[in-house]
Amino acid sequence: MADLRGNIERVRASIADAAARAGRDPGAVTLVGVSKTQPAEAVAEVIGLGIEHVGENRVQEAAGKVERVQALVGTRPHWHLIGTLQRNKARQALDLFDMIQSVDSVRLAETLAARAEGRTVSILLEVYFGADPDRPGFRPAEVEEAARRMLALESLDVQGLMTVAPFGSTPEQARAAFRRLRQLREQLQERLPVARLTELSMGMTDDYQLAIEEGATIVRVGRAIFGERG
Ligand SMILES: *Cc1c(COP(=O)(O)O)cnc(C)c1O
Repeated sequence: MADLRGNIERVRASIADAAARAGRDPGAVTLVGVSKTQPAEAVAEVIGLGIEHVGENRVQEAAGKVERVQALVGTRPHWHLIGTLQRNKARQALDLFDMIQSVDSVRLAETLAARAEGRTVSILLEVYFGADPDRPGFRPAEVEEAARRMLALESLDVQGLMTVAPFGSTPEQARAAFRRLRQLREQLQERLPVARLTELSMGMTDDYQLAIEEGATIVRVGRAIFGERG
């Protein structure tokens, strides 16, 4: 059994250290515990240990888990979708998740808006800085136009940007991607009529401290909390 309490304490301490190095308030960094492949019981346990935000990368896997966690803890954490969403699962995703971090096309955003049924849907635009043509995510040059079109959709609340450092990045390459995400956000805030975009979701187990130094407001941490995935 993983020592979930100890793991969470260590992650929180590392977040505080990284924030201190950057002169930032650690309270300005939201920790999302990424529970993909983990059973509902482990999710319930980390919620009991103070984790309020939980991330899953697949609608199908989350479907049963969200319900089971609810039954175990009686309260609802904030559920974040952090993996690719097929448009035909948009309705189901809206039922399960409080935030969709992985919006990677305008068509997906339009589908979410159309299925919102009066609700305001919190989303992040996923941006990819690497060279793999098959990876999902907006390319940096596409983001401004995409954000403009999404800001016109009333039922969407475009809260910011999300990225995953390109696969195989060195720490310096990951840091460069995080810095570019922050710069992109600043650029958008200057150019777009509605300058919210407060959130920067970046950083996972191997690189969340770097991401915090570069301005992350949300970090998505799986293995450092739950242990290695089986
Ligand atoms: C799995 C995953 C994470 C967490 O990764 P760890 O290395 O376990 O911290 C974060 N973000 C996304 C998009 C993921 O798929």
